Amino acid sequence: MFRPSFQRLLSLSSGGGRSYIMQSVRGIQTPRKLEGKVALVTASSDGIGLAIARRLAQDGARVLVSSRKQQNVDKAVQELKREGLDVEGTVCHVGKDEDRVKLVNTAVQKFGGIDILVSNAAVNPFFGNMLDSTDEVWEKVRLVKLQYLPIRYCGESPLYILMRGGSIVIVSSVGGFMPFPALGPYSVSKTALLGLTKALVPELTPLNIRVNCLAPGLIRTKFSSALWKDESVLDQLKVKLGISRIGEPEECAGAVSFLCSPDASYVTGETIVVAGGGQSRL
Ligand code: NAP
Repeated sequence: MFRPSFQRLLSLSSGGGRSYIMQSVRGIQTPRKLEGKVALVTASSDGIGLAIARRLAQDGARVLVSSRKQQNVDKAVQELKREGLDVEGTVCHVGKDEDRVKLVNTAVQKFGGIDILVSNAAVNPFFGNMLDSTDEVWEKVRLVKLQYLPIRYCGESPLYILMRGGSIVIVSSVGGFMPFPALGPYSVSKTALLGLTKALVPELTPLNIRVNCLAPGLIRTKFSSALWKDESVLDQLKVKLGISRIGEPEECAGAVSFLCSPDASYVTGETIVVAGGGQSRL
């Protein structure tokens, strides 16, 4: 098998004026493709967000972990620091203006700027028939802006202005392509994020910011536990998949790291589906 030497990798990876620092993963030398970058990951004290925060940090980024509860943030930060990763944490409920401002200010104060935003928080306020969903439910779902707001509004300085170019990843869902049964409003909010990603491209490209989307399938987290803790429900869902098992949060994280890296320098407005072969077209 062809194995480029350390020197060869260095010379390959230093093209375009970028300097890469190498890390050793299970004895194999690989470039730390996010070295020097600062990443904000919302809703990252557990589940997919935590896996993304870990992976971005493993790939060299300095990462600000956040979620609503201080104890959850502290636990996640301790865990990642124990692994030798360069992370800090702050409380941020993405639906609260003052929290988002604090999130951005903390990143600038602690790390000196922001290059990457992963907008991962979601709400699922309703389980039942679409036609039974109330105005109150839709008002909460309108909090799809939970994912839009960190980009557009962060106090006097919108995040997109503070960003030093870079990359945004919005976390949608395969439910955005094919609505999950009894999760109509949630699924519709995720469809909106597919459109939001496309709609942001013309305005973010001149700012040298790429914006892409991740659409996970059924991933083993607390959020989805109603779908996988009951074996019979899980078995029904697995039938619809190509890879006949539930996904793990770590399996989403590599795709996000790729989207944030120089490897994706010509990728914007796209959605990567990580769903084991679940339906991925509208
Ligand atoms: P999860 O394991 O339940 O983790 C949720 C995280 O979000 C926790 O860290 C929680 O911490 C934080 N959080 C919740 N509400 C928040 C808010 N308003 N502001 C800030 N942080 C908040 O969920 P997950 O499954 O990883 O889901 C992450 C994303 O993936 C969501 O956008 C979800 O729609 C999407 N997704 C998940 C699946 C799946 O099967 N799991 C499939 C498709 C898409 P605190 O309690 O401390 O706030």
